[in-house]
Amino acid sequence: MLAIVSAMPPELAALKALMPTDQITTVAGRRFHQGQLAGQDVVLALTGIGKVAAAATAAVLCQHFQACALLFTGVAGGLGEGVTVGDVVVADALLQHDLDVSPLFPRWVVPGKGKDRFAPNPHWSERLRRAAHAVLAQPEPELAQGLAAFGLHAPRCHQGLIISGDRFVSTTAESQALRNLLPDALAVEMEGAAVAQVCADFDRPFAVLRTVSDRADDQAHVDFERFLAEVAAEMARDIVLKALLNP
Ligand code: SAH
Repeated sequence: MLAIVSAMPPELAALKALMPTDQITTVAGRRFHQGQLAGQDVVLALTGIGKVAAAATAAVLCQHFQACALLFTGVAGGLGEGVTVGDVVVADALLQHDLDVSPLFPRWVVPGKGKDRFAPNPHWSERLRRAAHAVLAQPEPELAQGLAAFGLHAPRCHQGLIISGDRFVSTTAESQALRNLLPDALAVEMEGAAVAQVCADFDRPFAVLRTVSDRADDQAHVDFERFLAEVAAEMARDIVLKALLNP
């Protein structure tokens, strides 16, 4: 069974609306919707916001539901140059930017793991990347409408480092500080690297797809709310569906 997860309801709503639910199971206060999407057995779940919430959900999916792979889809703040609102970022590595056990371990290194970056599954990441390219090149009417309402014309797809931490990055000073420390980071969010670490523990493939809702700057809270309402759901639905249909 494939698991598809997001942090917040608007990120998963459109995808969930496509799936007739066969069974709902509540574990650890979370509702897990099982059904079929594009002819495949899937389980959909909301992790909630932040690393602990995401880790707990990922652990339940791996252990209780025996998920064969986890796909995370949601929104993120753009950090990299040219990573603007409406763009899509597919992770090729994930790091917890707020983890610091120095001087005992080098900054960001996860004790016991010997590394700071966790790599997603290349096959799933490539499927998401190809699907994102196709969707952005020719958006379906509903998504096209959302993008137009937001004044977005030619969103692009990027692949690279996504960083996670328990902080909504919403000042220009903070995002600049992150850029200085981690110049190759393309986007910042609050769950991806936690899911990555849990999936490494369970030896399950995973991939992370994020649509840029804001630039993690002084304007972030305004852009974030609008984007979530107008674009996030359709973007996630169209890309994930295409990725499921095209192995
Ligand atoms: N206003 C929301 C809280 C949003 S937290 C509420 O009240 O529920 C931001 C969520 O979007 C997280 O799940 C995170 O993964 C993602 N995100 C989007 N932009 C972000 C940013 N600039 N910094 C950190 N996380 C961001």
